[in-house]
Amino acid sequence: MNTVDKMVAGPLAVIRDEIRALLGYPVPPSAGMVKLDPMANPYGLPGELKHRIATLVAGATLNRYPDPRAPELKAMLRKAQGVPAAMEIVLGNGSDEIIQMLALAAAKPGAVLLAPEPSFVMYRVLANVAGMRYVGVPLAADFSLDQPAMLAAIAQHQPALVFLAYPNNPTGNLFDDAAVEAIIGATPGLVIVDEAYQPFARQTFMNRLGTYDNLLVMRTLSKLGLAGLRLGFLAGNPQILAEIDKVRLPYNVGVLTQSIAVEVLRHGAVLDAQAAAIRRERGRMTKALQGIAGITTFASAANFILFRVAEATRVHAAIRERGVLVKNLDGGNPQLAGCVRVSVGTPVQNDLFLDALRASL
Ligand code: PMP
Repeated sequence: MNTVDKMVAGPLAVIRDEIRALLGYPVPPSAGMVKLDPMANPYGLPGELKHRIATLVAGATLNRYPDPRAPELKAMLRKAQGVPAAMEIVLGNGSDEIIQMLALAAAKPGAVLLAPEPSFVMYRVLANVAGMRYVGVPLAADFSLDQPAMLAAIAQHQPALVFLAYPNNPTGNLFDDAAVEAIIGATPGLVIVDEAYQPFARQTFMNRLGTYDNLLVMRTLSKLGLAGLRLGFLAGNPQILAEIDKVRLPYNVGVLTQSIAVEVLRHGAVLDAQAAAIRRERGRMTKALQGIAGITTFASAANFILFRVAEATRVHAAIRERGVLVKNLDGGNPQLAGCVRVSVGTPVQNDLFLDALRASL
């Protein structure tokens, strides 16, 4: 042990074992690369809207705390995102923060957070951070929900929280409606349908919030085009959301985020058109991938495509050598053996990726 290690050994011992066992969230360096790894919208905002935002920023009351109730933003989200009138909204600094709030609120000793696997990794990470017990239930081989396995795990573990990404990340598919409803019906706790990729799937459980007391719907503006702004929200039963809201840090959504989000949502047609372009490109890219020998694609309702290829780790590195960054999922969850995930970019970016892939095989 060197001197620095000796110095921190004492203080480090205060960190909980489950935190020390975590790996930090990996964000690879990407300067100068075609970035098709993080499922963000590749298009920027039009010049006129940028100017409006610049004016808003110049006039923002940065010396004051933001309004923690954010009434204007909530009203705008309600309208733009079709939140039923009887439902409440809780805002998060990205939907990551909402997952954390839910976990913190539900973390009674021994309480379980359950999710199918593979799915969004932050469900497991934030369960650990909050001190919940995490239970992952393998998806079927075709990445659909294994309904009997899910129902058995729910009966056994009586989860406080169940997260269902709809569409799922990293597999890209929508789960079967009836299976999701069966899970909602069987779960003693809350079921959170995570609709991060809803703009590309255009399927939702939002209009079923009134049907199930224990259903919550989570969305984000990240995939729609505002990943840098950090805004997510949870919609659901006002009594439940009032409790979750107590966990929220009062000023988690800043003045700039609130005013910029309102302005962009006022011009929501811009983002909708970009989402439509991404859906079209998803179709074109899927066909192109299917035309490459040795590639197996999985049908996607999201803004990314999962595919399987021999020697995925080598192919991933070779694509990166050619200046394109995609996500290698090989080597983690065995169900993702040989899998690579590519986000849908602009037509030019997608062609660069397809060329890099062909050259890497
Ligand atoms: N849910 C899912 C399924 C995701 O894939 C992501 C981001 N990759 C998030 C939530 C979190 O998004 P954000 O914090 O940007 O809102």
